[in-house]
Amino acid sequence: MTATRTRYDLTRAELGEMLGGEPRFRVDQIWKGLYEQLSEPSELTTLPKALRARLEAELPSALTTVVERINDDGDTVKYLFELAGGSRIETVLMLYPDRVTVCVSSQAGCAMGCGFCATGQAGFTRQLTVGEIIEQVVRASRKARELNRRLANVVFMGMGEPLANEPTVWAAIERINNDIGLGARHITVSTVGLVPGIKRVTEWPMQVNLAVSLHAANDTLRDDMVPINRRYPLDALMDACADYLEAKGRRLSFEWALIDGVNDRDSDARELAALCRSLPLAAHVNIIPLNPTPGYLTRGTPISRVHKFRDRLEELGVNATVRRNRGTDIDAACGQLAAGQPVQPVSLGRRPSTSD
Ligand code: SAH
Ligand code: SF4
Repeated sequence: MTATRTRYDLTRAELGEMLGGEPRFRVDQIWKGLYEQLSEPSELTTLPKALRARLEAELPSALTTVVERINDDGDTVKYLFELAGGSRIETVLMLYPDRVTVCVSSQAGCAMGCGFCATGQAGFTRQLTVGEIIEQVVRASRKARELNRRLANVVFMGMGEPLANEPTVWAAIERINNDIGLGARHITVSTVGLVPGIKRVTEWPMQVNLAVSLHAANDTLRDDMVPINRRYPLDALMDACADYLEAKGRRLSFEWALIDGVNDRDSDARELAALCRSLPLAAHVNIIPLNPTPGYLTRGTPISRVHKFRDRLEELGVNATVRRNRGTDIDAACGQLAAGQPVQPVSLGRRPSTSD
């Protein structure tokens, strides 16, 4: 399906073309209004009324808010947006005491099929456009401003696999950086491990952060948890990570959703530590206690054992942090974004240890 061209889809040159008869300074005024002031065309009161009306008509917003929910603690806001054509996506704004972060979607759904993830359970609908990605950042940034906070961080950890929509994600990042003004070091792309995509990220001229959702450090378990591992097994993935580290000299993070009896054993910690040691620079492990999703009946590791797993990794010389769960009461936590799609429950059994 071809999506409608929305206000953040156009490049500055395309906006200039669209406004053919208007003087150049108008184009600059509109561009700044959209990207720096995060304004709606109707709010650009320095423009003649007729021009504002034209922009409203010809450059529609990409996102219609279906639901905006705030959690009980008031520090997480989840949006359900409808796109042209009726697909739905979710965006999550997280207000930490010291920083404000938005978690954006890169696809409506996801084709990667990780069984423990609500987005994967619902399947793939379509790629997002540049404008649909940028507008999530704009909406979240406006909301933060309303709450007297400033959005400074963007993480591609919402719905979808960003590196399966890489040219679009890259184009959006360039504009989030150049035009909205968020620093590249404050932008993080999380991937399930698409090796060709990681190679392209290594070539990106900007220093964005990369997170790899590892979850398992042997191919047998990872094939099962993250089906794309069958195409890009751990050897190939680690080679791509090593090249990235050598080229960028940046910190790489591994995400590890901790699942009771599946990937929380001592052998898992040892295998993970061995993988980390094989890299030319230290990787940081983010442990995410598994969040419940309707399609996956196996539970997350109880919190006391989550901390033990972290301590074990530290003992083995790996830096690891337990990520605080937030937004579980509004299904806004990692892996819970399904945009209201119904899913069928399945259960992943406990796995025998591979090296205990
Ligand atoms: N597709 C990308 C980015 C989106 S998922 C990726 O997989 O990296 C964002 C993070 O949430 C990933 O690390 C993912 O593995 C994790 N995740 C998925 N389901 C989860 C769940 N039920 N509980 C905790 N984390 C989950
Ligand atoms: Fe897709 Fe990431 Fe969910 Fe896997 S964890 S299904 S790659 S969104």
